[in-house]
Amino acid sequence: MTIMGKREIRISIFYTDLYVWDFMRRKAFLESFLKQANDFYGKYKLRIDPFPFPWDYTLYKNAFVLSTGKGFQPDVNQDQLAADMRADTADRAALQQKLADPNLTVGERAELVRQGQELDKRAQGRIWQGSTSNGEYDLRLALGKRFASDKTLKSREAEFRKTPRLVIVFCEFVSLQVHSQTSLDAIGMYIDALSQSERKRYAAYKKPVPAFEQSFVIIDISGASWHTLAHEIAHGNGHAHPTSSYGGYYDGPQESIYNYFSSGMDPSKVVLEDADLKSLENAYFVR
Ligand SMILES: [Zn+2]
Repeated sequence: MTIMGKREIRISIFYTDLYVWDFMRRKAFLESFLKQANDFYGKYKLRIDPFPFPWDYTLYKNAFVLSTGKGFQPDVNQDQLAADMRADTADRAALQQKLADPNLTVGERAELVRQGQELDKRAQGRIWQGSTSNGEYDLRLALGKRFASDKTLKSREAEFRKTPRLVIVFCEFVSLQVHSQTSLDAIGMYIDALSQSERKRYAAYKKPVPAFEQSFVIIDISGASWHTLAHEIAHGNGHAHPTSSYGGYYDGPQESIYNYFSSGMDPSKVVLEDADLKSLENAYFVR
């Protein structure tokens, strides 16, 4: 708590690649997101602090841009998964047709059977792909590596442990022309801290457990606004939407930060209800 009585929402903002970093700096998108999100949170004596250390272009770029090439894209709406599985189905049908040919030689048949086994293996892999389509695993790995390797972040390790920050990752979600049937049109997501069951699942797939275990937020730059940032941060108090269909639209009064209907509203009109504010004040990244 500061003397002014304003509590700080402490965040660290990462970018999956240089394009995302430039995009958020161009036209001062990030600045305006932060300004409007603070217009909203300011009404509740909260203020977002996005600076884990004093601003410096090179230090920030080195610490927070996760890839200098094409960065990782979460497939939150499962467009890629659906496209891959459509291709699997087509390959399977083509293979079956070939296998129905009575004139196949023994060698040709054996080769087609081998291809069938490859397809089975691919289908198995889709289970993993689908269960981590929001990018949780890959991003945890990348964040863990970055915290362990970047000099500036490493030098603040003890401080981050004492006063943790919520990690926000700006990125581009996969978006294909053909959307998956499971598409939620999501533009942001709050991902809970690594659970025991996720840890077990990683072990079952023989995947190393990522070093980055705390909760984090992913935000798709192509659709995001100040509201996406403020909304996902507000999930940090443990708030979950009603699980019914269109749950986000039935979540509290329509002007609540949790309600999707409030996404086009002015920050001054959007509200955080008393109980939600109290629990947010107790979130691990609020001081
Ligand atoms: Zn939400």
